[in-house]
Parts: sequence; C-alpha cells; structure tokens
Amino acid sequence: MWESEEQKLIKSGRKWKPSADYMPYRCAELFCEECGASLGIHDIVCTNLETNMYCGKCVQKYIKQTPISLPCGTIRKDFGDSVSLEYIDNYYDSIVVNKVCYFNRKGRYIKVKGKRYYV
Ligand SMILES: [Zn+2]
Repeated sequence: MWESEEQKLIKSGRKWKPSADYMPYRCAELFCEECGASLGIHDIVCTNLETNMYCGKCVQKYIKQTPISLPCGTIRKDFGDSVSLEYIDNYYDSIVVNKVCYFNRKGRYIKVKGKRYYV
C-alpha cells in the first residue's frame, strides 16, 4: 500500500484491513467502529475517514428527532450518517440540501460553508 494512504489510516485510528484484491495499493476494508461489521472496501485516496464510520445499525443511535434548529438552518430529516438541511439563501428562497455527517471524539457534525455544526 502507498505509504501516504497507510499513514492516513494509522493516523485516523480507524479499524481497517488492507484490500486483498481490489487496488491494494490504495484501497482498504473499513469496519464499523462500534460493532466491527465490515463496511466494504474503500478507496482511501478519496475517502474522508471522518465519515462512513458506522454500519447502518449502529448509526441509528445518532438519529435525532427533527426538526432541529441550527444557526446555519433547520435539519428536516436525520438519517444518522447524513441529514437534510433547509436554509434560506441570498435570494430568500428556501433550499434543502443533503449534508454528510462527520464523526470525531466530540460527536457528530456537519460542515456548512466551512464551519462545523455539532448535531
Ligand atoms: Zn455497527
């Protein structure tokens, strides 16, 4: 495996295993941080290791009742590993976008215009 990608994995503290067949120089199998279930093979070059941390079952505990008001808008739906966020744009139109959730030791957050909002 490329050293840059291996370093990324080691630094992230994630559970992982080198990919045996599929592009082993840049891919690795990732595992759910909670129960250890396989999350499949991911291309580490384009995977943000702060996302895709939990399997469909374990991510359920992060799902909150909506709507949730944040300074950046209102969360209309919560899917655990992503949310749909409604906000008012410059033209005073209401826009709904899907936002990927990131996880760290402090919890779960979304990024909106470069800022982190913990949910
Ligand atoms: Zn799990």
